[in-house]
Amino acid sequence: MQDPLRIGGFTPLTTIDYPGELAAVVFCQGCPWRCRYCHNGHLIPARGMKSLAWGNILRFLERRRGLLDAVVFSGGEPTLQSRPLLTALREVRALGFKTGLHTAGPWPERLEPLLPELDWVGMDLKTIPDDYPRITGAPGSGVRAWQSARLLRESGIQSEFRVTVHPGLIDEATLRELEEQALRIGVEHLVVQRCVTEYCLDEGLR
Ligand code: SF4
Repeated sequence: MQDPLRIGGFTPLTTIDYPGELAAVVFCQGCPWRCRYCHNGHLIPARGMKSLAWGNILRFLERRRGLLDAVVFSGGEPTLQSRPLLTALREVRALGFKTGLHTAGPWPERLEPLLPELDWVGMDLKTIPDDYPRITGAPGSGVRAWQSARLLRESGIQSEFRVTVHPGLIDEATLRELEEQALRIGVEHLVVQRCVTEYCLDEGLR
């Protein structure tokens, strides 16, 4: 029997988390990285203070058929729980909703089997590969994230790639280099988001 999906939060309705669709967002608990600008620090531990039951969310979604278009799995890093996530994606599709994922791509090998169950993916490209550990605190994270980005591009799934810019972490020249490297893997448009600094994990960045 597989572990249940650990969930640290739920938003029943949003218009901004899946482009053009009314969506609910499930915030999965746990992330392998500790990005200095992370504003969801409470979702980083594998087990959080708050825990919501997937079964209850599924029952809520059953009652939202015809009212919602999509369900997005966000985090934390949803692919940390790739097996229960795969089951949840199938259950969501069986209810008639589109499926979305927010990921930073730390595990290309876990992302790949999820792709056939996804209609849209929003992926963070944090910086150029060599520079990743300075943001994520995780050696090798850049290579893995960019491998995930390549897989996502090759899958042909509708996607959006975005970069969060904190001036203390990424300068203009690195941003230009990032855009060029992204273009080389087929990412023609990179959404640049300004960092919301109030809740940065690293207090020095607030
Ligand atoms: S990958 Fe996302 S959830 Fe994980 S630490 Fe970085 S910003 Fe936070």
